[in-house]
Amino acid sequence: MRNKSGSEYLNGKGVRKTLGKYERWHRGRVEVYQPATKKYVTKSILIASEKLGRPLKDMEVVHHINMNGKDDRAENLFVCNNPNQHLWIHRRAKKIMRLARDAGLVEWSDKDGMARRVRDLVELGILGWDDRGFYRV
Ligand SMILES: [Zn+2]
Repeated sequence: MRNKSGSEYLNGKGVRKTLGKYERWHRGRVEVYQPATKKYVTKSILIASEKLGRPLKDMEVVHHINMNGKDDRAENLFVCNNPNQHLWIHRRAKKIMRLARDAGLVEWSDKDGMARRVRDLVELGILGWDDRGFYRV
């Protein structure tokens, strides 16, 4: 449910969450007010930084593993080294997501931002694997 101006949104599990005191919507993302700098910071960036234990580097991009930009749970965030890696993940994910979701066979990893249990799909002959990654059989 998209609700830019309202105070509620749905997280990745479809649970209704209320925006925190210092939070607001901006361009489909939750932002958190930082009193120290008097600026709003994208929540996914804050949580990804906490997860890494350091600030993000200039080229790094936060990716939402389940493709739900409203789901800022730490386990749903993957930090890409650069925008190209982010694009690559999206292209790959797009190719297999439809199949995987429909089949209910894939879990998404917060370690590498890619699908887990894909061996099942390979074994079933739905996906192939080569040095460039997965491809549709
Ligand atoms: Zn992404």
